[in-house]
Amino acid sequence: MKKKHFQVVVIGAGPAGMAAAITAAKAGLKTIVIDDQRSIGGQVYRSIQANSDTPPQYLGNSYYAGTKLSEDFACCGASYLPGCTVWQITETHEIALVYSGKAELITAEYIVIATGAIERPMPVRGWTLPGVMSVGGAQTLLKQSALGADDAVFVGSGPLLYLTAWQYIKAGMAVRAVIDITGTTQWRSAFPFAPLALIQPNMLLMGQKWLREIRQKTKIITNVKEVEIKGQSCAEAVSYTLSSGTKIDLPASHVFLHQGVVPNVNLSMATGLDHRWDQKAFCWRPVTDTKGKSSDEQIYITGDGSGIGGAKAAEISGRLAARAIMKRFGKFNFLKELYYKLRYLHCLSIRPFLDRLYLPPVHFRLPQSNDTIICRCEALTKSDIFDALASGATGPNQLKAFCRAGMGRCQGRNCGLIVQEMIAVHTSQSMAETGYYRLRPPVKPITLAELASLEGPWPE
Ligand SMILES: Cc1cc2nc3c(=O)[nH]c(=O)nc-3n(C[C@H](O)[C@H](O)[C@H](O)COP(=O)(O)OP(=O)(O)OC[C@H]3O[C@@H](n4cnc5c(N)ncnc54)[C@H](O)[C@@H]3O)c2cc1C
Repeated sequence: MKKKHFQVVVIGAGPAGMAAAITAAKAGLKTIVIDDQRSIGGQVYRSIQANSDTPPQYLGNSYYAGTKLSEDFACCGASYLPGCTVWQITETHEIALVYSGKAELITAEYIVIATGAIERPMPVRGWTLPGVMSVGGAQTLLKQSALGADDAVFVGSGPLLYLTAWQYIKAGMAVRAVIDITGTTQWRSAFPFAPLALIQPNMLLMGQKWLREIRQKTKIITNVKEVEIKGQSCAEAVSYTLSSGTKIDLPASHVFLHQGVVPNVNLSMATGLDHRWDQKAFCWRPVTDTKGKSSDEQIYITGDGSGIGGAKAAEISGRLAARAIMKRFGKFNFLKELYYKLRYLHCLSIRPFLDRLYLPPVHFRLPQSNDTIICRCEALTKSDIFDALASGATGPNQLKAFCRAGMGRCQGRNCGLIVQEMIAVHTSQSMAETGYYRLRPPVKPITLAELASLEGPWPE
């Protein structure tokens, strides 16, 4: 069977993917957008179409900034495949996807990877107990199903922690407390970049508003140096230690954890594209030019998948990548490109401040007790990892062979950065020298039946 062919295939229907598709399709390029969610919007504008009909105010104005983009996307002329997962991109630019139990290969002249960000893992003791989830998960329930938990404790740092606590309060739910782990070290290293952040007063004012309104309804606890979640078979309390040494137990059956987002590099890494370690943002990011072109001429990476910039920056980076692709088809508008480049720089001006302020302290990036689970898929604890290191494993990939760390359903999305840093500390190497898991397709789980449903030769 002849494979379907597109001039542009966009993977991800968040702000970056939608903007790239709108720009490419409106320029007359045959474009398709593939996304594993049921509807468009990605993370930030999740369920935007459904929510725009009867907009619940508790999601806030920044959420409804996505309405126009989603409307433009709906009529831009690009094809759209929801509920469809891309599990591989081959060297010959075939895109392997699966939907409704069936696998298929399609081909493209240009590919835009816009797969967004994932939450940085927060391996505090008890983080795998029932009743504990990530703040992103708690927000997804609210955006997608108008569901939430009353009296939850929010723990961590970063804009999403405050935005979601504010959304919960606006939705009428009680929030028991917000425990902020940002330390004085973070404030000190971020402060020199505050003037740059002032270029975006709206973002800062929005953050201040969230804090002010959260404080009207609950307490924000700061100067916290340790957190543990207590409970036998489920979460029962959050035990936190203040810098003064005082230890307090806060009863809680729902605990939401968050300490920032990092680029979702699984597809770009498994495709063999170049990546570099970003010490400031403390994450891996693909190597791209200013318009998102990766180490493969025909693959562009945009949005938070190329480096955390937030919703607006993601949208603009999608437009910039599509304009670079249009140029390869001889369609070029210098002024428009200049306009988007300047807007992109403006959007990113606040990053140096936020990246430093919300880089979690090392004792929250690394597990503090030996029985803390690191690899959730394989139920491996801190001491299991250290046993494997003591038996001679020297890097993340040897560790895979020694104890299967990173070989489960999430393909290292949860444990990758933790394991990398544990090895770096253990071997006194830098994070860049330590490296990361070698990621291979399929980047998301597919069944054998789905694989068997693939017609024609299998991808290399
Ligand atoms: C859980 C979470 C919640 C967030 N909430 C907010 C918020 O409320 N406000 C805010 O300003 N920022 C939020 N962010 C930050 C967010 O990263 C950006 O604001 C913005 O969503 C980035 O846009 P994007 O287009 O790069 O990626 P996303 O919006 O993340 O879109 C990427 C899309 O690609 C899909 N995808 C990924 N891999 C595949 C694959 N292999 N096959 C098919 N589809 C795939 C994803 O499911 C997603 O739909 C959130 C981040 C996370 C992780």
